[in-house]
Formats: sequence, structure tokens, C-alpha cells
Amino acid sequence: MSRLLIGGSWVDGESVDELTEKYRGTTYGQMQVASPEQVDAAVAGALEGISASKLTPYKRYKILLATARLVEERREHLISLLRDEAGFTRADGENEVSRCIQTLELSADEARRLNGDLVLMLSAANASDRMGFTIHAPRGVICAITPFNSPLNTLAHKVAPALAGGNAVLIKPSSYTPLCAVELCKALLDAGLPSGLLALVHGPGGRIGRQLLADQRIAYYAFTGSTQVGREIQQAAGLRGTQLELGSIASTIVCDDADFTRAIPKILNAGFRKAGQVCTSVQRLLVQRNILDDFVPLLIAAVEALKVGDPSDPETIIGPMISQAHAERAQNWVEEAVAGGARILTGGKREGSIVQPTVLTDVQESMKVYCEEIFAPVLSVIPFDTDDEAVERANASPYGLAAGLFTSNLHRALRMSQAMRFGGVHVNEASSARVDAMPFGGVKDSGFGREGPAYAIREMTEERLITISY
Ligand code: NAD
Repeated sequence: MSRLLIGGSWVDGESVDELTEKYRGTTYGQMQVASPEQVDAAVAGALEGISASKLTPYKRYKILLATARLVEERREHLISLLRDEAGFTRADGENEVSRCIQTLELSADEARRLNGDLVLMLSAANASDRMGFTIHAPRGVICAITPFNSPLNTLAHKVAPALAGGNAVLIKPSSYTPLCAVELCKALLDAGLPSGLLALVHGPGGRIGRQLLADQRIAYYAFTGSTQVGREIQQAAGLRGTQLELGSIASTIVCDDADFTRAIPKILNAGFRKAGQVCTSVQRLLVQRNILDDFVPLLIAAVEALKVGDPSDPETIIGPMISQAHAERAQNWVEEAVAGGARILTGGKREGSIVQPTVLTDVQESMKVYCEEIFAPVLSVIPFDTDDEAVERANASPYGLAAGLFTSNLHRALRMSQAMRFGGVHVNEASSARVDAMPFGGVKDSGFGREGPAYAIREMTEERLITISY
């Protein structure tokens, strides 16, 4: 049962939604939906939590580290929950839990490392008798609004740096994956976090999300989700702070001097894990024309070897999408592309919420599979001739989150990667090659602000200058 955490207590909401398992469609749990009064009380409770429980940075470090240990102890339970809630395969569940642990540990370290700067003024003409330093003070209540595709680790990337910085956190998770958020809250509380510092509300983003955006007691919004909702959040936030991790069309470039044996498994992992529902999934695979005939058959053979279907089978690599409606939308885009002249090299079929891993070619720039975020296990092979053309095609998108580039020529790697307008460019990796310690975020319509505990903790705290004259 997915309850609400308000004012430090677990409570029921005003109504209950059934939660259905993503592969078989059977019920696996229930979600308590918060009333407007309860959302209001959750914000008030988080504010009270800050004044009631002041944690030293060392205590925050200990609690976050203890949370990481509890998540490890509960690994098997979390993997089965991720399978039911998000449709994750065993490999995707293992990865999600391991990364969540890593994010908690990195955030614990940051709680101890968060120091200000010594400000040098002695050499200034008019300040030889002053000195200064900065501190990082908590902002207050941080609101974390999160998507369905990374129900534990994305949440940890919001909650853990916010707590490490001394804030209270109010969570509004995706209604597709509420129980994972409950489990992370339980681990934090069991690890010793004062319950007033954490609040959790469930329900539709259109109602509860908007109520949270209008609430001026919230100091900062840490959001991951679609660009459409991100725009709304930024408008409502006004002068308050935001971290917006939004949509993407990720490209990966394969140059003619690339190491295929290295590139292909990485492209498969980036394009198809979590059924392609990763913000940095390879959607445009730019392959140099003179290697197409060698590279593409190897890629297709590798895609066709991936086991698709029941996520409870440990051999399965590609499980269901988050809902049948999401899968139907992806299938429609593929059919539209084919009607416009695109060719299916492999895949193209759907059964319920399972979309077969699909590789297209001969796609046009006007097709949705090319110019809108597909968020499904579908990638398009796009030939290019020159390096400049590859960079131009990768950059020709409203988004700019992450890109990959395979080449064995260092000069080429440096020249191309510096011209690619993305939050991150990964050489000899596919677009989805994240380590949780990295600064992670986008440019253009992919948003701004950076995840990665060392970066996020600075955004989630206020830098304050203190000067002393003597
Ligand atoms: P979504 O935008 O539909 O929902 C995200 C969250 O926002 C959910 O909790 C939802 O309930 C809430 N929400 C919806 N409407 C709201 C409103 N009006 N006000 C406030 N909150 C509202 O996204 P999704 O479908 O869950 O996730 C997929 C999207 O997330 C894709 O676009 C993907 O690229 C993006 N994403 C980005 C990153 C990144 O790091 N850049 C990572 C993962 C996912």
C-alpha cells in the first residue's frame, strides 16, 4: 500500500487508485491519493520539520550512508517492485538499485564536504582591513517531482543532495511508480532521518503538481520529466530556484575508425535498456556511410539476439513499456514513418505493452521518429559523409541532453565533441553512459541545472557571503 507521509506520519488519502503490474496487467498494490488539504499539510509539516530538527552535516552523512546500506539489504524486494511498477527486467532492476546506492553514498560524502570559499579581499585597494568567507545555507523545503522511468535513482538524485544540504524534502513521484518512492522514504526514516524532514504525496500531476507549484512556501523545485511540464514549472516558480531535467533526442555518432566490438554492445544498452525509456536513449544513430554495409548487419544481428518479453525471466533484456498506451503511441510513429518511406531493418511489431526493439532507416527529418522524443526501443540509422555533417545533424534538435561519439582518432574526438551542443558528450561511449558522480543535465529544451550530488547540493543551498572588518 502506497500511503502518504505528512507531518512525520503515514496516513491514508482521500481516495485509492489500483496499481497494475506492467507486463500482465494484474493488480499488485494500491496508491492513496492526497486531498488538497493534505498537500497543504504536507508543505506545512516539512516547514515545521526544518525548525524542529536541525541535523549537523556529520549526522546527515551518517543517515545517508545508513540509508544506502538499507537499500542494499532490501535489494531483492526493490528489484521485484521495480519489475511490477516499472516493468524493469532483472538487469534494469539491479542497475537501478546499485545506482541508487551509489547516489546515496555520493550525497553522504557531499554532506561532509560542503564548504564555502575563503574570499580574498586583502589585495583590493579599499578592503585591506576586511576578510570574508562563504557558507552554504539550506534553502528550506525542496519539492522533488519525478518521472516513471527511474523510480529510485532519479528520486535519490533529488532527495539525497537536498537532505545532505540541510533541507526538508517534499516528494511527488510519478503515479505509475509510487511504491518505489515509499520504499526510499522508509529506508531514510529507518536510517534515522527525523520524519518531519520528509513528506510524500501521491496523485495526478495536473492537480497535485499544480497545487505544489502555486505554494510559495516551497523554496525550490527539483524536477525530472517532460519538457512540456518543465516549462510550466519554470513559469510558476518565478524567482524561486529550479533544477529542470527534461526531454531529449539523443544522438550517437559512429565514425569509420570506430571499434565496432566496443560500440555495438554500448549502443544496444543505450538504445534498448528499460525498453528505450531513458532520457539519453540513442534515438538517432549517425553512421558514416562508408562503413554502413559492415556495421549495420552486425548491429541488426546483435539486436535480434536480445530476449524480449516477460521481465520476470532473468534472461529477458527488453521488457514492457510503462503502459499499453505508450507502446501504441510508439508503434503509431513507426507506422507513420514506414508510410512515409522509412524501412524497418528489424522489429516494428508490438504485443500489448511490449514493443520489439526496432531499427529504422531511410527516415526523413520531418518524421516523428526523428524529430520528436520517442522514448521507446526504436532507433534510426542515419548515414553521414563528413564529420561536420554528423555534428550538424546531431545538433539539429530542440534538445541537448547527451550524445555519444565512437572514433579511435583523438584529434577527431576533440574537434567533434567540442562542437556538439549537449550537456554531456561521451567519447567511445553511447549517449547513455552516465556515472552518478558526473554533472548531468541539459542545454536548450533539455533544461538546466545539474544532477550529480556534488553539483546538485550547491544548487539546493544558498551561498551566503560573510565579511568581517577589523
Ligand atoms: P511527465 O512530465 O509526464 O511527468 C513527470 C512528473 O511530473 C510526474 O510526477 C507527473 O505526475 C508530474 N506532473 C505532470 N503534470 C504536472 C504539472 N502540471 N505540474 C507539476 N507536475 C506535473 O514525464 P514522464 O512521462 O513521467 O517521464 C518521461 C519524460 O521524462 C521524458 O520526456 C524524458 O526525457 C524525461 N526524463 C528526463 C530525464 C533527464 O534527466 N533529463 C531523465 C528521465 C526522464
